[in-house]
Amino acid sequence: MAAAAAPALKHWRTTLERVEKFVSPLYFTDCNLRGRLFGDSCPVAELSSFLTPERLPYQEAVQQDFRPARVGDSFGPTWWTCWFRVELTIPEAWVGQEVHLRWESDGEGLVWRDGEPVQGYRSHQKPPRIRHLPKAPQDWWPFLLGLTKEGEKTSYVLTDKLEEEDPRSLTLYVEVACNGLLGAGKGSMIAAPDPEKMFQVSRAELAVFHRDVYKLLVDLELLLGMAKGLGEDNQRSFQALYTANQIVNVCDPAQPETFPVAQALASKFFGQRGGESQHTIHAVGHCHIDTAWLWPFKETVRKCARSWVTAIQLMERNPEFIFACSQAQQLQWVKSYYPGLHARLQEFACRGQFVPVGGTWVEMDGNLPSGEAMVRQFLQGQNFFLQEFGKMCSEFWLPDTFGYSAQLPQIMRSCGIRHFLTQKLSWNLVNSFPHHTFLWEGLDGSRVLAHFPPGDSYGMQGSVEEVLKTVAKNRDKGRTNHSAFLFGFGDGGGGPTQTMVDRLKRLCDTDGLPRVQLSSPGRLFSALEKDSGQLCTWVGELFLELHNGTYTTHAQIKKENRECERILHDAELLSSLALARSAQFLYPAAQLRDLWRLLLLNQFHDVVTGSCIQLVAEEAMCHYEDIRSHGNTLLSAAAAALCAGEPGPEGLLIVNTLPWKRTEVLALPRPGGAHSLALVTVPSMGYAPAPTPASLQPLLPQQPVFVMQELLVAEAPADLASRPPPTKTDGSVTLDNGIIRVRLDPTGRLTSLVLVASGREAIAEGAVGNQFVLFDDVPLYWDAWDVMDYHLETRKPVLGQAGTLAVGTEGGVRGSAWFLLQISPNSRLSQEVVLDVGCPYVRFHTEVHWHEAHKFLKVEFPARVRSPQATYEVQFGHLQRPTHYNTSWDWARFEVWAHRWMDLSEHGFGLALLNDCKYGASVQGSVLSLSLLRAPKSPDATVDMGRHEFTYALMPHEGSFQDAGVIPAAYSLNFPLLALPAPGPAPTAAWSAFSVSSPAVVLETVKQAETSPQGRTLVLRLYEAHGSHVDCWLHMSLPVQEAVLCDLLERRDPAGPLPLRDARLKLTFSPFQVQSLLLVLQPLPN
Ligand SMILES: [Zn+2]
Repeated sequence: MAAAAAPALKHWRTTLERVEKFVSPLYFTDCNLRGRLFGDSCPVAELSSFLTPERLPYQEAVQQDFRPARVGDSFGPTWWTCWFRVELTIPEAWVGQEVHLRWESDGEGLVWRDGEPVQGYRSHQKPPRIRHLPKAPQDWWPFLLGLTKEGEKTSYVLTDKLEEEDPRSLTLYVEVACNGLLGAGKGSMIAAPDPEKMFQVSRAELAVFHRDVYKLLVDLELLLGMAKGLGEDNQRSFQALYTANQIVNVCDPAQPETFPVAQALASKFFGQRGGESQHTIHAVGHCHIDTAWLWPFKETVRKCARSWVTAIQLMERNPEFIFACSQAQQLQWVKSYYPGLHARLQEFACRGQFVPVGGTWVEMDGNLPSGEAMVRQFLQGQNFFLQEFGKMCSEFWLPDTFGYSAQLPQIMRSCGIRHFLTQKLSWNLVNSFPHHTFLWEGLDGSRVLAHFPPGDSYGMQGSVEEVLKTVAKNRDKGRTNHSAFLFGFGDGGGGPTQTMVDRLKRLCDTDGLPRVQLSSPGRLFSALEKDSGQLCTWVGELFLELHNGTYTTHAQIKKENRECERILHDAELLSSLALARSAQFLYPAAQLRDLWRLLLLNQFHDVVTGSCIQLVAEEAMCHYEDIRSHGNTLLSAAAAALCAGEPGPEGLLIVNTLPWKRTEVLALPRPGGAHSLALVTVPSMGYAPAPTPASLQPLLPQQPVFVMQELLVAEAPADLASRPPPTKTDGSVTLDNGIIRVRLDPTGRLTSLVLVASGREAIAEGAVGNQFVLFDDVPLYWDAWDVMDYHLETRKPVLGQAGTLAVGTEGGVRGSAWFLLQISPNSRLSQEVVLDVGCPYVRFHTEVHWHEAHKFLKVEFPARVRSPQATYEVQFGHLQRPTHYNTSWDWARFEVWAHRWMDLSEHGFGLALLNDCKYGASVQGSVLSLSLLRAPKSPDATVDMGRHEFTYALMPHEGSFQDAGVIPAAYSLNFPLLALPAPGPAPTAAWSAFSVSSPAVVLETVKQAETSPQGRTLVLRLYEAHGSHVDCWLHMSLPVQEAVLCDLLERRDPAGPLPLRDARLKLTFSPFQVQSLLLVLQPLPN
């Protein structure tokens, strides 16, 4: 046995590079250790293939006609699938050896053996070029490395040790998808996919694998990592380096009998323990799979299978390895398409190795979904996890999303979750977030324990460098001594590898490095929980200072999202009322659940945000169409059930799905396809019979709308030039309903907006509102995602031409004016400015034909209001953001998100801007600005091109926005009264199911309880919307037997039923509190 020689010379760099060459996959592989990783090899016995544009199930695919194939063959194009049948015979001489199938091809592969998927094969494609990243590119290396040699998964273990009696002939199938890990971008990663891409198989052979060589390689790489990472002023670094050097001295790659001595040297080194105060890293296997992004939804189904079979293999081989997996939807897909794999996941979940996390249906966007939609993410997610894996998740898991609503802590807490993990805030462009472990306090004061893995990645690989970074970067040193380390390639990269696991196991406790435990999220959070007394608190939203274009990109997806949230709200309410009143009515629970799941799916963080490819957007549109058509069918069915048995004059039911009485102008369908306007009053969450046409109604006490246009006088003929020119006849239009008076200039801009009672002007002096502005919109890299601060420097007002403004509806119940505006040579818009009788806001119905590249369209309203803060609606509430750019935290929020309204108020007066489908907004100084359309070209080159329709509205008000009713106004704009056809005669009397005594409390949702024995239990969700402590009464006209509070997962409050007094319930709210109620209905006489 060779003795370990002492290093002759102690030159740090030559020694280091000597070791590097010994393990190099590039240099000296003829004589180094890496070159001995594989021994003998032989080609597979027979290879044949079958190409298809479809994603076929295994059973169907293997029945097809396979043609002979060879290594070097091309297949494709993009999004097709090539199935390979691989017949192999292991040479008899290999008995006693570990044998692998080595497979290399472009595209993502999945190996099938005996009809079950057994391992994912990593695509072998060149890394795409990523340039001009707004951040240091190392943030992207985990992803990128999935595409390089380091992350390759090109080996399938056929046998750990071939035994004499083992069968040596075998048939496998390899299903290769014609797309890379990150889709098929043409030229750059986020470019639109190249539809013509071709793929190639470059290796298909059997080989003997030398496990002892592999183990030494892992050790040497870790030693090198420590030598480099700890650096030349650290003594442990030298110990690592000289140990590695000694290993090279004693180890002869050609003589395996020298390996044990080398291994002993490594074991001695790694066995030297660290001190008691060492930081503990909780290494959790993970694979972030985007539910759709640069590839379609259906490919994600296969990405899940490829990644999770690989994780299963690792769990089998490493009982201490734990894999955290989020997104119920993905598990549901696997359950449907790969039932065998699903059963195995359940098995490993029982053992505690497969840990479902997140609690949500998908990893949704954290900004745009409504409050109710966010609740449903958890309700659908947690119920799924409970049903399939026997327990709910205890942490919310959202590593990758573009901001986090201030209402999330309350929603999490009420869904049984106290812990939160994310990473994305490390992408902040301007300010670096001051914590990695902290208490996050939401809008209502709810707190959760939040943790960001300090290595700023959710795709680690177990290198020493990453381990050291995790300790060094931790912003809460001294307050807590534990942190998360999520390892594994994302997006179908196959998740963790055996090499990663082996590295991390080696580092369990070695001097010079933190302790590394293969751990679970639960263990991490319990450890952090113990230190929580030391932690700092962050109050309010977690705003991502990047990707602010995602509030606006893909306007049609956003519009459909808002519309589908409305339809499901209305359908659930009406179905609940029908259930309460009709013994024959069956609540469509399964259908509503499926429609909700479809909506939740499209709230994934690369879909509703508009950062997906065209293929995904088209699929999303089909999903929305499904929700709308089925939702409308459900509405009609519920309306029919409500009408049954009640005679009335017309086959039409006017429905108000909001929890307050409304009097509004409604267009009623008349025979022959015509419409007529009518002023209708409908009670809170109820209905009224269809009224007679407006022309027959007295409007009192309301003042009718007056419309007046200053006449245009024709230009004087030339021969009469001496006559004085006409004055004050520019064609501007005034609309007045006695509440507000709107004056439009001849190009459609707002020159005045007056509250009639007080004479108060809302438009800033000398300024005009409804001013369209165009910006250049060229981000640094993330085209669909980012709008940069400097776009504000390119502001260009769009100037119209006088003379296009005309009166539309001439007054009475409604007055309107309309105009055309050429935005650019290619894009134009038309707008109808509408004022209804009794309505406190003026609406702007807008149609745009948009054909631009890298432009951003907004509309501005300079207000005669001064305030350092503006208010924006968020989920179940609102929050303030600054209107100035004092600090970096202020100016980094130059573009923000809001839901249905925003408001700028000073004491006693304010101006609110409402919208029916927009999310991007800003208020700078006194200018309210709504973001309308963008024109990015990657990853979808066609995004937002074409026709758009949207409505915004302007509401000046006295007093606070709360007292002035801005919130109900924004609801009304988004939830129009419904005129539903009734099969027979409609009811003759108006009826209200629920009302609330305080304007501060909104009854948001009425639905059937998820689990209720006879189905006769409803869930009501209410929230405090003003930001106040308030008591209120809930009035009910349904036959309620029992009322009890419940959490967002509809679990009864142990405190028991609430006292019911004359069909009234008293409820007490704190600011922005969300409360849910279970109402058990009395049985109906049949
Ligand atoms: Zn993602």
